[in-house]
Amino acid sequence: MIVRTLTVGPFQENCYLLADGDTREAVLVDPGDEGARLVAAIEEGGLTLRAIWITHAHIDHVGGIAEVKRHADVPVYLHPLDRPLYDRVVEQGMKYGIRIEAPPAPDHALADGDVLTVGALSFGVMHVPGHAPGHVAFVGEGAVFGGDCLFAGSVGRTDLPLSDPRALERSLLRFAALPPATVVYCGHGPATTIGEECRSNPFLTGVARLKMQ
Ligand SMILES: [Zn+2]
Ligand SMILES: [Zn+2]
Repeated sequence: MIVRTLTVGPFQENCYLLADGDTREAVLVDPGDEGARLVAAIEEGGLTLRAIWITHAHIDHVGGIAEVKRHADVPVYLHPLDRPLYDRVVEQGMKYGIRIEAPPAPDHALADGDVLTVGALSFGVMHVPGHAPGHVAFVGEGAVFGGDCLFAGSVGRTDLPLSDPRALERSLLRFAALPPATVVYCGHGPATTIGEECRSNPFLTGVARLKMQ
């Protein structure tokens, strides 16, 4: 498995170029900005892009889709509960004074329990609402691409439109139940592991306390 982290745009969002090293097939998880740079990384790696997987539709995770799709017209996978955010990307950008090109409509509606593949690699879709209503994580191959749910030492904001703090708490329980060695590729900041976060992340140690009650 090849995982290349490309940190893009004013929000320093982590887009992940995820590929099967044998078949050279790849997906982009959350192409949030700098589409041309993402396309260059795919070409440099000698990879063939097969799909775009979106954890959630905040601007910093979807702003590069339009440009990437001009170079490789691959399907976009999104959970339908994030469609209201996806369809208002231009308005989301205006709130931050950022001009964003509206992405083409998504091609596939994700649901909890779906299995996605790239080459011989396989990932389950875990619906983890809270930061955003249609937030999903892609879980497989000893890793989780967790978007903005869980960060190293922190969690995603729940004060944004359509956020839900109670839902995030339930979603964090699902993260905490993954094997401790699972590598967490976060939407912002460094990667971590489930074990490390269960030990040291105050939001997850709080979750652990709830579980014992
Ligand atoms: Zn977000
Ligand atoms: Zn983000």
